[in-house]
Amino acid sequence: MSERAIILRIKSSVVQNPLFDVDGVPGQGKLIEPIEAPVPCYENAFEGVEDLVVLRKCVVQCNQCMLRKGAKGVVFGEGNPRARIMFVGEGPGKTEDDTGKPFVGRAGQLLDLMLRAHGFSREEVFIGNIVKCRPPGNRLPTNEEVQACLPNLKAQIRVIQPEIIVLLGALSSQTLIDPGIRVTKDRGRWFEKEGINYLATFHPAAVLRDETGKKPLMWEDFRSLRYKYEHLCKK
Ligand code: URA
Repeated sequence: MSERAIILRIKSSVVQNPLFDVDGVPGQGKLIEPIEAPVPCYENAFEGVEDLVVLRKCVVQCNQCMLRKGAKGVVFGEGNPRARIMFVGEGPGKTEDDTGKPFVGRAGQLLDLMLRAHGFSREEVFIGNIVKCRPPGNRLPTNEEVQACLPNLKAQIRVIQPEIIVLLGALSSQTLIDPGIRVTKDRGRWFEKEGINYLATFHPAAVLRDETGKKPLMWEDFRSLRYKYEHLCKK
């Protein structure tokens, strides 16, 4: 195979696997031209950005609030760029800040268990957060920080186009659905907004603090998620 044919094959595989880490291709990275990162544009909600790799390059440059200064990096989120289901948590904790990946600490392990037990894999869904940088000491993000980071999440939702968004905890439920939502009362409820089905449930960290009370309820919510997925996405 000629060198040009090899380059074309690698380029097309990168386009087909937009989350593929180009730098991670053993010995091949230099053959692939880096994708130009557009200047992040919060005024037009990243208009024109239709690809998650390109969006990631914008979002990792984000400096819209003070959280970036205290964090090691921006935790963009990870998973299938064409996911039918997206999970939205609060914000990265220490393990997430250290690794650059969402939900990899204890709460993430519980989320993984819930996913696997209901027939989902981490790779087929997309997992992200309301804020992309770790709030100091894991405090709740302020309303200003949430509003500053929201265009990042909205752009992710626009690009991924999930049918279902699972809201993990109060912050994501109140931010994406209604500030009046109370997770203890409203968990398990489905909401429809702009063609997307939203399910509010507990944050896994809250479940870890009250396993006997909350775990069976979160389990029930995941059963409801599986049912909805079968009826909505598997037609
Ligand atoms: N808690 C969250 O809300 N998000 C994470 O990524 C990890 C813990």
